[in-house]
Amino acid sequence: MANLKLSHIYKVYENGHKAVNDFNIDIQDKEFIVFVGPSGCGKSTTLRMIAGLENITSGDLFIGDTLANDLEPKDRDIAMVFQSYALYPHMTVYDNMAFGLRNRHMPEDVIQEKVLEAAKMLDIEDYLDRKPKAMSGGQRQRVALGRALVRDPKVFLLDEPLSNLDAKLRAQMRTEITKLHKKLGTTFIYVTHDQVEAMTMGTRIVVMKLGYVQQIDTPMNLYNKPYNKFVAGFIGTPQMNFFDVKLTRKGKDVEILYPDGSKSLVKYESVSKIHNKYLDGETTVILGIRPEHINLSEKKTDLKASVTAVEHLGNECIIYGVLGEAGEEFTMKDEGKNVIIKTVEGVKVEVGDQIYLEIQEEKLHLFDKETEVTLLNPVPNYSVFDGKVAGEELSIFGSKVKLPEALKEAIGEAKEVELEVPPFAVVPGKDYSLKVAKVEEVEGVKLAYLENEDCYLFAIVDDSVKEGAKYNFSLRNDKVRVLVEGQPVLEPIGEQEFIEGTFKKKEHGRNKIDFFYSVEGDEIPAPVECGYKINAVEGNNCYKKTYRYVFDRKSIQLDQELGLMGKVEKVLRYGNQDYAKVVIGKQELLVEVAPDFAAEEVKVFLDGNAFEVWQKEIDFRIC
Ligand code: ADP
Repeated sequence: MANLKLSHIYKVYENGHKAVNDFNIDIQDKEFIVFVGPSGCGKSTTLRMIAGLENITSGDLFIGDTLANDLEPKDRDIAMVFQSYALYPHMTVYDNMAFGLRNRHMPEDVIQEKVLEAAKMLDIEDYLDRKPKAMSGGQRQRVALGRALVRDPKVFLLDEPLSNLDAKLRAQMRTEITKLHKKLGTTFIYVTHDQVEAMTMGTRIVVMKLGYVQQIDTPMNLYNKPYNKFVAGFIGTPQMNFFDVKLTRKGKDVEILYPDGSKSLVKYESVSKIHNKYLDGETTVILGIRPEHINLSEKKTDLKASVTAVEHLGNECIIYGVLGEAGEEFTMKDEGKNVIIKTVEGVKVEVGDQIYLEIQEEKLHLFDKETEVTLLNPVPNYSVFDGKVAGEELSIFGSKVKLPEALKEAIGEAKEVELEVPPFAVVPGKDYSLKVAKVEEVEGVKLAYLENEDCYLFAIVDDSVKEGAKYNFSLRNDKVRVLVEGQPVLEPIGEQEFIEGTFKKKEHGRNKIDFFYSVEGDEIPAPVECGYKINAVEGNNCYKKTYRYVFDRKSIQLDQELGLMGKVEKVLRYGNQDYAKVVIGKQELLVEVAPDFAAEEVKVFLDGNAFEVWQKEIDFRIC
């Protein structure tokens, strides 16, 4: 039994192909984790790295508390089951199952006990004398499972074990593997491209695409709160419907304009987490609605479709249609109007019929047209507000505040601005006051809905904030984006900063090596483990390359004596936090400074222990 931890795992194949990017997961003991995604997305590569069959380019793999990157496969206490069964054809089932144990020189009586126990569990006791070729696919896969089982591994890895089986057997084996997992109480990691397998078996599912993890979540959360269009479309059958729509705020409602020109209304409350900039009636967004969340309406609604096919499945009925008037000619161009509805059996619908639809608005999904990321994040990334500028003052949230210098400079002569405000940038303070309409507990934080004119300002708050009360707050001006006429004039300041440099070693005698990050002529001591990691990943080329060193802005210190010589080009005054723009050699850093800061030259002390080291060309994190 074991926990597993994958931390910033990357796989770059010899040919330069980046098959796995920044894979992070903490797997608890006894979990059933499924890696799912289309062919080529990096599932097997990740599994094979866990098994030790493929080396890890960078990142850390822990099995239990042990760093396992360099452990031999046989020392990892892991058993793997393959799609191809990988049985020895000339051996009997018994010998196939006993093979690994005999290799470990286990006494024959113990082997027998283990093989018989596993055979019983898998219901293959009667086949122990057979050779694999005299067995069905399902039976062979049981033998492969049995061979893994007898080893009492801490972790089971299964790579598409059921994909060679027919549909009926697959469904049966699915249940059996789930039962086996429960019975054994061992950690399982299971790879499949089949979302039904993933949804029915996994306690948590990792959805992957093109080498990147898209979402790690429980089956229900993947279904109800997909992070992006890819996950939304991948999970669920028939697939979620997607339409390009335009949204317009109409008082307490939002009007949806569908691709066929029809319109429907939903309550603003159902989509209040969307930024109001998407409600302008002009921006195209992707609306997602699952077939089971569209109702057939008895009344004539504005949203209608013409039926193109009907599938009666006995317990349910799948209706295929195209948005618009029945009887219209449809062409390939109308593909974006295709709609699928899943309903109970017994409805009387035929091809060619005009049907009227209602969407269950609380089940609506909205995605950005470009990034395809959800616009209804449980904790919104930010909301957008209009402010008016008059002289030194900004009017926003019903109050007037003096504009800090950095904002004033960016805004220039403009009289109207927009602010994109992330919930964490709303902090207790004295500048503004709004009523708390609602407090919601979501993703481990308390999210307050603050009532502003026509949309909510979201804030992350503590337990003292109560619904119905007024909340007094200020803005972290350095964390907001400022726009004039839709164009950003000031970007939020991030938590991280980076600088580029080279990497060096110094050997003292035979056994002692020190490593350094060399940045603009200064040598910054590097942790020994990082030094060895960089060398292991890059070989001796590492001493010739330039790396990107990334660190928290908070870890930068200004010092009188130690550190890199820097010239202060400018001080950016945001009111709540000031920053110095410091030029070091050919590079620039933004450094947090106190309000009274006025120096022209500084020494910037960087702590090599706080550095993440990034390989620049292929862009992956080494340590
Ligand atoms: P999956 O299991 O999700 O189908 P894989 O992990 O097998 O995907 O492969 C991920 C990507 O890495 C694919 O694009 C595949 O072509 C590539 N790949 C796999 N093995 C190698 C290899 N030995 N050398 C180069 N590229 C590879």
